Order: sequence, then structure tokens, then C-alpha cells
Amino acid sequence: MELSTPLQYVKGIGPARAEMLAAKGLQTVADLLYYAPFRYEDRTNLKKIAALAPGEKAVIIARVKSARLSGFKRRSLGLFEVAFTDESGATLEARWFHGERYAESLIPDRRVSLFGKVELNRSSGHRLMVQPEVEILSDEREEDEMLHAGRIVAVYEAAGKISTRVFRGLIHRILKEAPMPEDALPESVRARIQLPDLASAIHKLHAPPAGTALQLLNAFRTPGQVRLIFDEFFWLECGLALKKTKARAATGISFSVTAHAREQIKKMLPFKPTAAQRRVMQEIADDMKQPHPMNRLLQGDVGSGKTIVAAQSAVIAIENGYQVAVLAPTEILATQHLSYFKRLLEKLGYIVASLTGSATPHEKQQIKRMLAEGMIHAVVGTHALIQEDVTFRKLGLAIVDEQHRFGVRQRLELFKKGEQPDVLVMTATPIPRTLALTIYGDLDVSTIDELPPGRKPIITKHVKESAVEGVYSFVAQQIQAGRQAYVVYPVVEESETEAVKAAEKMFTHLSVTVFPHIKVGLLHGKMSADDKDVAMRGFQNGQTKILVATTVIEVGVDVPNASVIVIEQAERFGLAQIHQLRGRVGRGPHQSYCILVTGKLNDIARERIRTLVESNDGFYIADMDMRLRGPGEFFGTRQSGIPGLRMGDLVRDTDVLEMARAEAQKVIENRDGEELRAVVHYIQEHWQRRYGFVQVG
Ligand code: ADP
Ligand code: MG
Repeated sequence: MELSTPLQYVKGIGPARAEMLAAKGLQTVADLLYYAPFRYEDRTNLKKIAALAPGEKAVIIARVKSARLSGFKRRSLGLFEVAFTDESGATLEARWFHGERYAESLIPDRRVSLFGKVELNRSSGHRLMVQPEVEILSDEREEDEMLHAGRIVAVYEAAGKISTRVFRGLIHRILKEAPMPEDALPESVRARIQLPDLASAIHKLHAPPAGTALQLLNAFRTPGQVRLIFDEFFWLECGLALKKTKARAATGISFSVTAHAREQIKKMLPFKPTAAQRRVMQEIADDMKQPHPMNRLLQGDVGSGKTIVAAQSAVIAIENGYQVAVLAPTEILATQHLSYFKRLLEKLGYIVASLTGSATPHEKQQIKRMLAEGMIHAVVGTHALIQEDVTFRKLGLAIVDEQHRFGVRQRLELFKKGEQPDVLVMTATPIPRTLALTIYGDLDVSTIDELPPGRKPIITKHVKESAVEGVYSFVAQQIQAGRQAYVVYPVVEESETEAVKAAEKMFTHLSVTVFPHIKVGLLHGKMSADDKDVAMRGFQNGQTKILVATTVIEVGVDVPNASVIVIEQAERFGLAQIHQLRGRVGRGPHQSYCILVTGKLNDIARERIRTLVESNDGFYIADMDMRLRGPGEFFGTRQSGIPGLRMGDLVRDTDVLEMARAEAQKVIENRDGEELRAVVHYIQEHWQRRYGFVQVG
């Protein structure tokens, strides 16, 4: 048996099981060795039935004495009751609700192991387990028993018909017969991290020795588990670092930050930048000076002031004789950016224009010509910007806003329109630095971690649907006081039509019945660009007091006089999404409110609402979002270059990730060492295919 042996040829597997395993991504012996249990159970308390004490959790090995399926409508509500006995002669009863699935296997004389909490059946006087875990023991080999009971056992996620018990048996065999994977961690790293060697870590992963703390095991924090998680992250980080080193070597534009550029920036700034803004601006300027393409993520909470930082980098590019492109995910946001950039850049004498899908063919033609001829310094646009027939005379900087709305591909499209232009992508969903550097492997990261001064924290309240009238009278009060309000129907992308209907209905209800004397506007994604523009402008200039909208306003909209946002059906939508929506208020000097109206809540939705009511901090919210949704869901597949990790969890294991990244950095920076050569070689052999590190090293 080799590590690379296909599982189908392992004794006890065969083609049918091999197929089920393959569906889980398990193809070779090595894959099974790295198939981590998802939890552990302490089954050291192996007892005879006569010795069982009510209240304790225990494992017994016994035979079925009798079994019966009873209950109303046997098939659907079957209560399955079984009596067991063992050498002690005593009887243990067990009950399973919906237990019909056991009817075929738990027949008299069948040997099983049961694991559960012991109770006392007062009417019969026998000991009882309700819904215990049961495993059928196929034969009487003692070793087999020892594998599944009387110890801490690993519990695996089933694969097709392959139960946790079968996994345990297979992995046990492989542990005995297969060679262990080579321990390729560089010597220096091993010496620093002080973790167990690979072979013993793998053994203990599947068969923790007696006495291992169950809590540590289930938290994946035994030294052996940490070692395996570390390994996975270490190779990943080495691969990423090598890839990045290579990208860094490419030739790009070396911008210079001239005295004139500095003056222009000073002239442009409408306010004093925060310390965080100054710091990231410096990081970006330093990067732009490098003779290599910049690839940088600028992250900061909603309202932290990313746009002005982007505008400063635009000034540098324009002062060097280059053009700037700003890509926005929606027309509304593009329009906002256009007016923002115009306000800032036109007073410096630069020409700013926009290119969106809603422009007339003639307008588009004209803008395209001017871009190609270099008459436009900065262009703001939507997807229309990355169309094939858009060309620049000299594109030097591409700015991509709210990049979670775009894939890596769109970024590349824009990149290709220049000769190695610098790229700055912005996101309002900030995550911890190391995590960001890992997830967005090819990007450097700058973070604005401070809000502009004078912001009053938004007060967030949770209100039940039934109490929505009170919310409306509060909204009326705010409008009385001169403020404006949003009422939002958050929408999941696929069901915009449904949300539009709801928003239209609500618009009628609010404008006719609830607020007959107040001007209410409507804004949703299915409206024509002109209608959207009119609706947006009406709200911006203060004529419209209440704007009923779908999530088209989620990103970027900036109306400082709005002080209330009411989010209907808030339970249906993600944390980050609601946090973004909430960011529409609290942009001016007025105390602002976010009111989350919900129907019935399940546990996760309740946790989301609680998080929002308690915190205004985008970092905390992104973190909770990752925890509640899991990193896979959170990042989606669109841009994270990271395929399924098998040991590490990007949220649970951030501490190990930090450590692995630091170690990887040390090894990679040691450029001409023997160690580095070995690392590159190992990655090429083992990780290249899995992580797509094409051409590392
Ligand atoms: P975001 O990071 O969400 O894109 P914006 O760039 O839209 O944030 O900035 C939010 C608001 O804060 C804007 O109205 C902007 O003009 C204002 N702003 C940004 N930086 C500062 C600052 N340093 N001082 C005062 N106001 C600022
Ligand atoms: Mg923004």
C-alpha cells in the first residue's frame, strides 16, 4: 500500500465504496489519512449493563434480546423499542423515535455497541437510553471492539453509505499498513514551532491516546491537530508568497509623486484626512512609485472615507500623464462617484466623464473617442467600461469599488486596457489582515481602521412586525424635525422581481395610507436609468422625505440628511448586507437610527440581529458573519483562490494562520537557501495541482 494507491484497491473498499469516497474528494490512501474527524467522543467509560448508574454517559457492548416497532402510523411516527442484555445478565432498554431505520438491523441476538446517557425506566425498573448512538458490531474480534468503544473515538462525516464506523475501520487499517507522508517542513521551522512530528500528529488525529482532553480535541487544539492545520496553512502561504514574488517582478509604471502633485492633492482635500487615511495614502503612494504593477486592496468600514483616498491616488496618476478608470458595480453608485470625483478633480483642471450602460449610443461613442484620444483624465463607469471596444490612450490606474461585486476576471479585463496599470480595489467588508492577504492572495492590503471625527454611532433597534406602526410614527417625528428616511426591502439577487413587487406595494401603502402628507419616493433596480436618476435626485435635494427602496441603495449612496433607515424583513438577509445598508445613515451631524423589522426568527437570524443591535463595527460584523455563515459561504467561490481546506478553518484557526504566514515569510525571504529550494520543490510536487499555483518558483 502506497500513499498514492487509489482507494478502490484498498482491502474493504472496492469500486462501489471508492465511488462514494471519490464524491467526497477522497481518492488515494493519503486522502484518507488526512480525512479529519469532525468531532470526538469519549467512550472510555465502557461498562457492563448491571454497573450502569443513571445520569452517566457510558458505552456498553450488548446483544439484542427483543425489539418492537410501535406507535401511531408505524411508518412515519415509529417508536422503536429494543431490550439489550450482556454477560452481567441485566437488561438495558433503548428507544428511538422515528426508529424504523433500525428495524432491519437490530434483530434478536445482534451485537452492538451503544453510547448514550443512562436513565431509569421507573415502570419496568430497567436502565434506559433514549436515542443512543448505536453501532452494529459485525464480528467478535476484540480489536474491532477496541476500535469503537472503550476509548476516545473519532467521528467522521459519513460518505454515501460509508458510516463513521466504516471510516474508523478503514483508517485504522491504513494507519497500520501504509507508509506515513514525508515530513517536508523545513528544519528551521520545525525547531521554531515546537509541534509534534507529522506521523504522530496523523496517528493521534484518528486515534487520540487515552487521557487526551476531549475539549481540546473538539476545539481542534491538541498539539497534533495544530500541527496538521499549521502544515496546510504553511504550504498555502508559501505558495502564495512565491506566486506574489513572481508577480512583483513584472514591469509596471513607476509614478513619481512630484511637488506639484502634492500641491494638487492639498488643493483638492475638502477636509483634514484622518490619521488612518494618511497612513494608507502613504502606503498607496509608495506602492505606486515602485516600477511594478500595484495590486492593492483598500479595505475600510462603510463611511470610513475610502473614496477620498482613491481620489488622491488618481491625482498622482493624472499628474504623471496617465488616465484613471473607476469601476462601480451599479449605475447609482457610478452616478454618485461621478459627482464626487467631478467635485474633487474638476477644480484641479482635470476632465472627468462617465460611461454607463444607460448612456445613448451617441454619447458612448463620443466618450469612447475622447478616452482613446486621451482627452479625458478620469472616467467613472459600470460594466460598460470593460467592454471590448473601450480603449484608453494611456491608462495608468484602475480603481474598482465594492470589489465583492466583481470577480477577478473583471479586474483583469480592466487591467488589460492599460500597459500594466496599477490597480486599487476597495471593499467595505473589512477582514483581519492576515486573512485578507490569504483570501485575496495576489493583493496587498491597506486598511482604514478609523472613522472621520464627529460621527455619532448609529442607534440600532429591533422591532417585531406587529409593532411596525410605532416605527412609522417615529419616522414621521424625524421628518417633522427636518430629517429624511429610507424604508428598505432587502433583496436576494435572484428574486429582485419579488422584492420590487413588495416595494411597490409598500410604496403605495406608505404614500397613500401611512404618510398621506409626506412626499414618498420609490427606487428599485427594475426602473429605467432616468427614473432612478429622478428618484435619487429628489431624495438628494431633500424634496422626497421618504425613499422606499430595494437593496439597490446598499452601496455608496450618500445623503447626509437621512437619519433613519427602516429595514423590513431584516431576518432574511446577511449581516454584511444589513451593515452596508445601515451605513446609508449616520453620514451627517444628526443622531441616526437603524430599525430592523423582523418576523419570526430562527437561531441564526436572532444571532445576526443581536450582533447588529450590539455593534456598529464593520470588522466585528464581518467576523461574526464569517462565523455564522462559514468562510466558504462568506467568501463565495468568485474570488477566493482557495479551494477547500481539509484541516484548517479560516475563521476558527486565524491564530495558526498568522503563525504559518509568518513562518512562510521567513523561509521565502531567505532567498538563496537550500531550504527554499526544497520548499519550492515540495510545493511543485504536492500542492501545485491542488492550489493551482501554476509556475511557482
Ligand atoms: P466609504 O469608505 O464608505 O466609501 P466615503 O468615501 O463615501 O466612505 O466617505 C463617507 C463620507 O465621509 C463622505 O461624505 C466623505 O466626504 C466623508 N469623509 C471622508 N473622510 C473624511 C474626513 N477625514 N473628515 C470628514 N469627512 C470625511
Ligand atoms: Mg464607498
